Amino acid sequence: VSTVSTPRIHVLDPRLANQIAAGEVVERPASVTKELIENAIDAGSRRIEVDIDTGGARLIRVRDDGRGIAEDDLPLALARHATSKIRSLEDLEGVHSLGFRGEALASISSVSRLELVSNAQDDPTQGWRVVAEGRAMESRVSPAPHPRGTTVSVRDLFFNTPARRKFMRTEKTEFGHVEEAFRRQALSRYDIAWVLRHNQKVVHQLPPGDTATARERRIAALLGKNFIEHARYIEREVGALRLSGWVGLPTHSRAQADQQYFFVNGRVVRDRLVAHAVRQAYRDVMFHGRQPVFVLYLDLDPDVVDVNVHPTKHEVRFRDGRMVHDFLFSSLHHSLAQSQPQEQSGSTA
Ligand code: ADP
Ligand code: MG
Repeated sequence: VSTVSTPRIHVLDPRLANQIAAGEVVERPASVTKELIENAIDAGSRRIEVDIDTGGARLIRVRDDGRGIAEDDLPLALARHATSKIRSLEDLEGVHSLGFRGEALASISSVSRLELVSNAQDDPTQGWRVVAEGRAMESRVSPAPHPRGTTVSVRDLFFNTPARRKFMRTEKTEFGHVEEAFRRQALSRYDIAWVLRHNQKVVHQLPPGDTATARERRIAALLGKNFIEHARYIEREVGALRLSGWVGLPTHSRAQADQQYFFVNGRVVRDRLVAHAVRQAYRDVMFHGRQPVFVLYLDLDPDVVDVNVHPTKHEVRFRDGRMVHDFLFSSLHHSLAQSQPQEQSGSTA
């Protein structure tokens, strides 16, 4: 008979379960910012303000004028696997919202001091506040006036998880990542007004506007005048696939792949198939080792793309990857060939 006793199985307490889940989605202040902004977008907001203190280590606050959360739902908003966005597997397969996992607020609140104030009514004297400090869901709800919408404040990220805290970099580096997260979201929705502040100083203030001029002004504000001056606008639709956006001219390449934005149904993604199609299209027109710049939007039926691939939702899986690849390649290839009339290579469109 063995003297070593068999360890008994027990269910993890919710707080620890949330902290483990947080390990997947809450890497640094930028990931918190991303999740909070996604929630603000999903709530139908017209204006989103982001306030950061000390690179996000001290404070990450996202304020929106969206739908708000009803009083009864407030404690649920912080619970794990609680969401208003899907109910069934069918919903998930055709999901239109950025969120659907019902995990972000639970995860974030398990590794920070989180305060959520929300009002789902038009009367600005109404509103409710709920606080959770590094807990799964021990939350108290109290009245707090707030204009219609929601403000989530995340303080002292990783205060109770020293191992994670150690991985935080300098204020400047962390804010750089936050700004990048903000940039991606602001490039995904031109109809929303955006503000980003760091240590109470305005870094970006972007008015809403969906015209071509307004879009180009926003891109110039976020990516520099240089980008837009050396890019061409493209738009192509084949069947249910639609591609639009700006592709940098081959003469405007960069050493790093740091200005490459690809959105699938409004969600910024990193995808090997997409990357391959783009690389192929630029191959003949760009010097080896140089990186193109682009801001591209692919829209297709949500049913033919699976967004539930990874907890951070940065990856997607296309049902017909080959078709998407060929569509991207041919659209870009065609456009780049047009931008280089002096270098005709026999086959012209
Ligand atoms: P998910 O976004 O995957 O549903 P979250 O944990 O991010 O999960 O949010 C949980 C729920 O809280 C959401 O489904 C939504 O109902 C509500 N919620 C969170 N943030 C906001 C917000 N800014 N405005 C309105 N509702 C929100
Ligand atoms: Mg969410």
